[in-house]
Amino acid sequence: MTPSRRTFLASTGAAVTLMPFAFGPARADGHAMDTIETENGQVRIQPVDHASFVMDTTGVVVAVDPVGDPARYKENDTPGMVLITHEHGDHFDIDTITELTKWPETKLVVNPAVHAKLPADLADRAVVLANGDTTFQGGIDITAIPAYNITEDRLNFHPQGRDNGYVLDINGFRVYISGDTEDIPEMRSLENIDLAFVCMNLPFTMSAEAAASAVADFAPAFVYPYHYRGRDNGTQDPMEFANMLPDGIEAKMGGWYDT
Ligand code: ZN
Ligand code: ZN
Repeated sequence: MTPSRRTFLASTGAAVTLMPFAFGPARADGHAMDTIETENGQVRIQPVDHASFVMDTTGVVVAVDPVGDPARYKENDTPGMVLITHEHGDHFDIDTITELTKWPETKLVVNPAVHAKLPADLADRAVVLANGDTTFQGGIDITAIPAYNITEDRLNFHPQGRDNGYVLDINGFRVYISGDTEDIPEMRSLENIDLAFVCMNLPFTMSAEAAASAVADFAPAFVYPYHYRGRDNGTQDPMEFANMLPDGIEAKMGGWYDT
C-alpha cells in the first residue's frame, strides 16, 4: 500500500475523490468523522478531546483513551473495543470505561499499570499488553509500543516501561497512537505507518519541533497532532508542527478542543 492509493476526506456525504487535499477546513458540526479510503475499506476518525478519539475500523469501533462523558464516544456507533495507553487522568477514566464496556463482548486493552487499577470484573476481562507485546482483537493486530520521557527532569511523568503507545494493523492499514511520550528511538524507527496520532505539550511530552523531527523520521502518510494543550507555556501550536513537516507527510487538524 502506498500513500497515493489512499484518500482522506471529510465525511459529510461528499463524493469520494482522488484528491488527497479534499479534506474540509473544519467539520461544520464537530461530530462528523474524518474518512480514509483504504484498500480494504473505510477507516473513520472522530477526534473527541485532547488525547481521546474514536476510530471506526473496517471491523470494530475503537475508543482510544476515552475520558469524560461516555455519550461522546457513542455518537456514531457503539465501541466494540476500548484501548488505554496509561493511567493519567486525561487518558484513563474508570467511570467512562465502565459505561463503555457494559456490553460484555466489548474488548478492553490496557497496559499493566492500568490493569492494576481496574475493578476486578474489568481486570478479569482485560487484555494486558506490556511494551512490545502483541494481540489480535476485533480483526486488528495490536502492538504495544514504548512511551516514555527521556529528558532528565521529566522522567517521572512517564517512566520507561510503564506506559504504552500502540500500532494497530487494520488489514494492512497501519495506525500509530503515540500515547504520552517524547521523541524516543522506538517512535523514530517505526516503519510503514499510514496514519499517526502524535502528542505534544510541555513539560509532559514534547515540543512541536521535537514531534515534527520524529515524525519526519518515520514518515507516516498522515498525522494528527493531538494532546497539544498544556499548562502555562506548555501548549504547542499544531500549525507550527504541520509547517515543519517535510513534503509527503500530511498533517490533519482534528478540532480536539472544539467543545
Ligand atoms: Zn500522561
Ligand atoms: Zn496526557
